[in-house]
Amino acid sequence: MTISLSNKIRQLRPSPSIAAKQRVNELQAQGRRVLDFCLGEPDFDTPAHIIEAAISAMCSGDTHYTGSQGIPALRRAIADKLRQQNGAEYDPSEIVVGIGAKQLIFEVFAASLSEGDEVIIPAPCWVSYPDIVKVNGGTPVILPCTAETGFKLSAPALEAAITPRTRWLVINSPSNPTGAVYTRDEWLALAEVLERHPDVALMTDEIYELVSYDGIRNLTPVAVAPALRERCVIINGLSKAYAMTGWRVGYAAGPAPLIAAVTKLLGQSTTCACAFAQTAAVAALTGPQDPVAEMNAIYAERRALLVEGLNALPGVTCTAPDAAFYVFPDVSALIGARTPEGGVIASDLDLVGYLLEAASVAVMDGTSYGSPGFLRLSFATDTDTIREGLSAMRRALSALSLKETA
Ligand code: PMP
Repeated sequence: MTISLSNKIRQLRPSPSIAAKQRVNELQAQGRRVLDFCLGEPDFDTPAHIIEAAISAMCSGDTHYTGSQGIPALRRAIADKLRQQNGAEYDPSEIVVGIGAKQLIFEVFAASLSEGDEVIIPAPCWVSYPDIVKVNGGTPVILPCTAETGFKLSAPALEAAITPRTRWLVINSPSNPTGAVYTRDEWLALAEVLERHPDVALMTDEIYELVSYDGIRNLTPVAVAPALRERCVIINGLSKAYAMTGWRVGYAAGPAPLIAAVTKLLGQSTTCACAFAQTAAVAALTGPQDPVAEMNAIYAERRALLVEGLNALPGVTCTAPDAAFYVFPDVSALIGARTPEGGVIASDLDLVGYLLEAASVAVMDGTSYGSPGFLRLSFATDTDTIREGLSAMRRALSALSLKETA
């Protein structure tokens, strides 16, 4: 007898980024050296004072279940952070802590979507949003955005996409994969559209907000357009800014009834986030912030190296991202190129395969992010890997015969 799987799970794709990581691990296990640009997490270790806070919490008995909404000290620290850094007022009762931002995105949709409800997701977008929406009964409505708008959703495009079934708009600023950050004017323009559609809620995923360059700062829409507060949910977490991906601490801030519904779901699923990881998260938010700045300075150097190197490659055009640790180069000029073996690079997916085979360089395809003709490379990796990867890509791409342009 086999255990049959649910209809829900059958339509769920595996996360492409987790699948890419597995592919790299398999090749490495076969003894192959792979230059990995797929990483979706900081390559730094968690700052020492955060680790020490967790150890001392464990030693003093902080090893039990906590309340499902998260420990009061952490929700207070998050409320203080939102007020001081984001200009957004939230009471700790309007905040829920979960196992990473990803769980909270999942539970917010689980708590609010009914079959057939539409969720607008501008693309390029993080690979997990459409599947999380689908598994919770919703219909993802992907809106492609182009380089002309900096890969950001424009107000007219939003207006045109809203239907009577639209329940949510998801904005990820700063964006994975493009690093785009919405400006005050861009938020105001979107808010004006949302004002005309009071049944559409806004989820803003701000997980990359503290990884940014050239003084660019993330603005939370609640601070820019306070009228949105009652239908906005802020998603954030500790993973990226504090190099704490494995600790699994994220949070959502939003209207109390939705937060209560999410808390009820957590109580019937995971119970709570890890107790001592929550205490360590308090140390991360309230302790010295120098490690965040130090990591950003290193990312900035790598960003410069990678953007310059990519632009020097044949058929590759790359703008410098404002935030996060990804570049999203346009490789459309390479589509149709012939490999030395006579094969054709028919898509960005083929290019990913070619780079892995010919250069041992692992990158993500733009198609997975809703934007064919692009690649995503993470620079959460050391400069030696970036230099070697660029040289290997140069050799592999120079061996291609590019399509004739008329
Ligand atoms: N949102 C985006 C845009 C992300 O890129 C990620 C992680 N790759 C997450 C959310 C999830 O982060 P967490 O580790 O807090 O679950």
